[in-house]
Amino acid sequence: MLTKKKGTMALLLILLLILMVRPVYGSQEHITEVVEANPPNTVLKEGPVVRTKKPVPAPEPLPPPVAKKKVALTFDDGPDLRYTPQLLEILRTEQVPATFFVLGEKVEWYPEMLKRIFTDGHLIANHSRTHVDFELLSNEEIIRLELDPTSRAVEKLTGYYPLIMRPPYGSLRVDSVQSLNAEGWKIVRWSLDTFDWDPSRNKPAQIIDRILRLHHPNAIVLMHCNNKSTVDVLPELIRTLRTLGYDFVTVTQLD
Ligand SMILES: [Zn+2]
Repeated sequence: MLTKKKGTMALLLILLLILMVRPVYGSQEHITEVVEANPPNTVLKEGPVVRTKKPVPAPEPLPPPVAKKKVALTFDDGPDLRYTPQLLEILRTEQVPATFFVLGEKVEWYPEMLKRIFTDGHLIANHSRTHVDFELLSNEEIIRLELDPTSRAVEKLTGYYPLIMRPPYGSLRVDSVQSLNAEGWKIVRWSLDTFDWDPSRNKPAQIIDRILRLHHPNAIVLMHCNNKSTVDVLPELIRTLRTLGYDFVTVTQLD
């Protein structure tokens, strides 16, 4: 009886020892891990922190959006029946808006072409009626003989009376500038001449070279509606300016 009791006691003692020893190893390992992963006095709210080999850097903030540079293509001396339709086709394909400085007498000769420029969404502006040098006219004559008849002809076909003008040859006396401004006219010259009007220097390569050298934000590019050279160079000219980061606008949309 006594032997049996002693044996039972010994067995219980062994079991107790086993229970005391096993958990100590397990929890000791666990505690070591947590202590290493967290600095002293860290309060664990959501379980132990998992350490990675390299800290993950915060994502780089996106750069601010870059405002695109603007350029305005302008075409003088139209409309005509030969080159204007080809220019319009290229502009439509490339989705490029432009400004057409038209001549009043050609608007009267080619009304359908004027309407097509308008319905294609381009801006129509005034380039006089007969392409006369405005320095030869009085301020009153400039409006009565040249500007007003042209804008009236445009208005008859489109409902729109242009008050933006470019003098032929860019020629305008200082007193005429003041007089026209006072009458509400906006005078627009150009800042980049392609020389597409000059047969001695209007090869497409020469025009592209000029664009590459002289382009600048808010440039007003001077071209014409009466040159094969302009038609030939236009697709590459548009691609070149696009590659340089330009958006195409009309002259009233420049900054
Ligand atoms: Zn002209």
